[in-house]
Amino acid sequence: MAENATSLGKFRARLLAMRAEILSQGDVSLEPSRADPSQVGGDEDEQALNEMNQVIASRRNRVRTGDLGRIQLALKRLDENPHEFGLCSECGEPLGRRLELLPFVELCVECQHAQDGSPKGRNRRHLRDFR
Ligand SMILES: [Zn+2]
Repeated sequence: MAENATSLGKFRARLLAMRAEILSQGDVSLEPSRADPSQVGGDEDEQALNEMNQVIASRRNRVRTGDLGRIQLALKRLDENPHEFGLCSECGEPLGRRLELLPFVELCVECQHAQDGSPKGRNRRHLRDFR
């Protein structure tokens, strides 16, 4: 049990570090264009480039905001249900290595595939159940 507490502490530390990293990169929430207002409407090419940069930035922000949300949820699970942390929230299987790579995952590979609508993942899960 002491070992379990240690690994929970390790995951918490990793989650906090990941969150700090995302937050340190700033601009998680969408901000209006940072272009100098005096330049807006000037060079058409530049304006197009600004728009493109904004699209890219907002796409990147969406990914990071999603990760941030998952990290927050993982930290919450760690606090509220430490004994269930590291288990698939769907089937209760230990997440194992998957959790080492992505400490904020909730589902095992099989359940993730099933949720993504992949029939292959569903079949594999059933095969495993009967083994
Ligand atoms: Zn599962």
